[in-house]
Amino acid sequence: MIDQLHQQFKTLFNSDAQHSFFSPGRVNLIGEHIDYNGGLVMPCAITFGTYLLVAPNTEGKFRLRSVNFEEQLDIPLQSSYQKKDSFWFNYPLGVITHFLNDGHELQGLDMLYYGDIPIGSGLSSSASIEVVTAFALNQLFSAGYSKLELVKLSKWVENVFIGLNSGIMDQFAVAFGEAEKALMLNCDTLEYEAVDCHLGDYLLAIINTNKPRKLAESKYNERVRECQQALAALKTELDIEHLCDIDAATFKQHEHLITDPIVKKRATHVIEENDRVKLAARELAANNLLEFGKLMYASHDSLSKLYEVSGIELDTIADYAKTKPEIVAGARMTGAGFGGCAIALVKKDAFDEFSKGITEFYTQKIGYAPSVYSSLIGMGVGVYNEAKHA
Ligand code: ADP
Ligand code: MG
Repeated sequence: MIDQLHQQFKTLFNSDAQHSFFSPGRVNLIGEHIDYNGGLVMPCAITFGTYLLVAPNTEGKFRLRSVNFEEQLDIPLQSSYQKKDSFWFNYPLGVITHFLNDGHELQGLDMLYYGDIPIGSGLSSSASIEVVTAFALNQLFSAGYSKLELVKLSKWVENVFIGLNSGIMDQFAVAFGEAEKALMLNCDTLEYEAVDCHLGDYLLAIINTNKPRKLAESKYNERVRECQQALAALKTELDIEHLCDIDAATFKQHEHLITDPIVKKRATHVIEENDRVKLAARELAANNLLEFGKLMYASHDSLSKLYEVSGIELDTIADYAKTKPEIVAGARMTGAGFGGCAIALVKKDAFDEFSKGITEFYTQKIGYAPSVYSSLIGMGVGVYNEAKHA
């Protein structure tokens, strides 16, 4: 694969690439709709990601190409750039702009990207392309940013340069991911712990619902508001800043303060899910994948019934997984919901059976097929290393 990419680089730019980098996509293993409630999420890097080949050029230009998109950009070095329509190259251009805004002196580069992540499916190909670009520029121009600064800079690109509202989890996971580790992260304080996550006989199946995403944003904002309502009600008696400042037992004693039954359901999900993340870390550290799997199902059910952000597509995937306990340890929707992807822990030697089975079951019920991928927990952004990425 990488050889082919080098060949393409040569054809495109008439010179050899001198540096290669890789940055993964990510999934959230557990801890959904928790980041804006001061709680814990648990993402990991996956083994799909974005490759970037680079060579300096003497034209004083940035020449940006992607195997995944037709549009190309050739642009002379300037002191800053503006977003251009909605082209893919705005992501690297935003990163370049941030470096320039900070006063770093850059030189012309030829850059070729290739992503094997399904793009636009909630596996964060956007964070992946931001972070790989930031990592590469940091290295090539000795800009001296720490990894956390690269994460924040990449988030700035997504939020300000591109203009999409999103938290820091994606860029964090893509940058700090480690092979066979899950990152238990508080998105407010950015404190995190890398938790051992040995999949052993299992792999991480990623099932894309392939549902066109529509509702997600307005429903997301509605959930944020409902959580704020719940917090306001609890604050009349409790000295807390976030819903996740209390555990489920404390919540039980104070839930009567929330009079709206829907708002109460939302808060119950958030607080119990946050507790589940802590339990999950313990089960993973003890290598109890089956127990972790149960927590995945519990998370899914809570998101479906209490938080109401699943839908027939994601529920169908979890339902199918539950019928196959001999090959599936657990499954859940991942991401904001209403479509996007689900994940499942599936026995390695039964992945083909799982993939075939779920495709048939889902297609029959939903009317179109899902896409099913097998992944492991991979490492975060870095210089591409053939041995490690083989
Ligand atoms: P997600 O992050 O869930 O994959 P987004 O819509 O947030 O979906 O980001 C996808 C966008 O990121 C693409 O439309 C494109 O603009 C950019 N992108 C991601 N990967 C690549 C790539 N390999 N080459 C070029 N652009 C990419
Ligand atoms: Mg994205």
